[in-house]
Amino acid sequence: MSPEERLESVGSLGMPKFRIDQISRHYFERYEADPSSWTDLPGATREAVGTLVPSLLEKVTDSLADRGSTVKSLYRLFDETLVECVLMSYRRGQGSRSTLCISSQAGCGIGCPFCATGQAGLKRNLSAGEIIEQVRLAIVHLTDSNQGSLNNVVFMGMGEPLANYTSVLTAVRAICSPTPSGFGISARGITVSTSGIVARMKDLAEEGLPLTLAVSLHAPDDELRDELVPINQRWNVGEVLDAAASYFQITGRRVSIEYALMRDINDQGFRADLLAKKLNARGRGWVHVNLIPLNPTPGSKWTASRKSDEKEFIARLEAARIPVTLRDTRGQDIDGACGQLAALSS
Ligand code: SAH
Ligand code: SF4
Repeated sequence: MSPEERLESVGSLGMPKFRIDQISRHYFERYEADPSSWTDLPGATREAVGTLVPSLLEKVTDSLADRGSTVKSLYRLFDETLVECVLMSYRRGQGSRSTLCISSQAGCGIGCPFCATGQAGLKRNLSAGEIIEQVRLAIVHLTDSNQGSLNNVVFMGMGEPLANYTSVLTAVRAICSPTPSGFGISARGITVSTSGIVARMKDLAEEGLPLTLAVSLHAPDDELRDELVPINQRWNVGEVLDAAASYFQITGRRVSIEYALMRDINDQGFRADLLAKKLNARGRGWVHVNLIPLNPTPGSKWTASRKSDEKEFIARLEAARIPVTLRDTRGQDIDGACGQLAALSS
């Protein structure tokens, strides 16, 4: 619920306003979602609060990879819908950092042919509560296993976040609002990844939040992108890049261009040059390219690039002074890497 909705529902249950603070502290500060254990509330109130904080996610399985530093969780929702998210921890010097990759929809309606999530189509949007619960449960896991706090949340799991805009924004605000209204994770640590819903990219720029925007480009030319990211037939490469550049102009946040390298499909040198040209045409310093080695998905005819082509692609972008990074591939053996989330319970 938004803060206004919290006020309204507490009022409609005949509770005083200060209960919002108590309830919020349990949920956002102590990560407890079972009102029956909130003994600072009177018994009758605890029962009533149960209707405000229903149980939303039931864990089906946890799959571990990378020596336990990558965990893919499969959850069942109230209507039997299945959804997955992936928690990754990184050791850094004495401390550790962690990133949670969350889902905004069950399935996805965009239908990129190389992505497992897109193959079964869209089942439904997740509610803001179902999105936020993924975050709470990840924090509980980190706390229980003594792995520190959650630093980054990326909307790169199942679904197209900007196609479920209202719930995603409610969830984003709950993730980054200071406690006790939210989890208090820095908005700068939250990344929203989109296939290029231009109308919503414009809205997002106006929200007044310093979020990171990632754009799944995967091809610099319309002919290929029409096939790889079908929403390109609605908003083309030029329109997507214009909206991305204007996101930077408005928010001052550097945009990340995601580009999954697929062997002999989009990894040719001329495409690296064309990509650099189109990015540089929109200014300097506003963007960086994050290359993703393609993760294999069942039924897809595409596979990862040769190392030599990957190197050449990087070299050409660097020669054009485009900052570029290569994404670490985590959780492939548990089908938990980018594009592999299909939420199969078997
Ligand atoms: N729907 C959103 C966010 C989820 S996908 C989007 O598409 O941006 C997160 C990233 O993983 C996207 O860039 C997506 O294109 C990429 N991806 C999908 N399938 C992949 C695969 N098989 N291998 C590597 N990356 C993939
Ligand atoms: Fe949907 Fe993103 Fe997968 Fe495309 S890559 S089908 S937009 S989840």
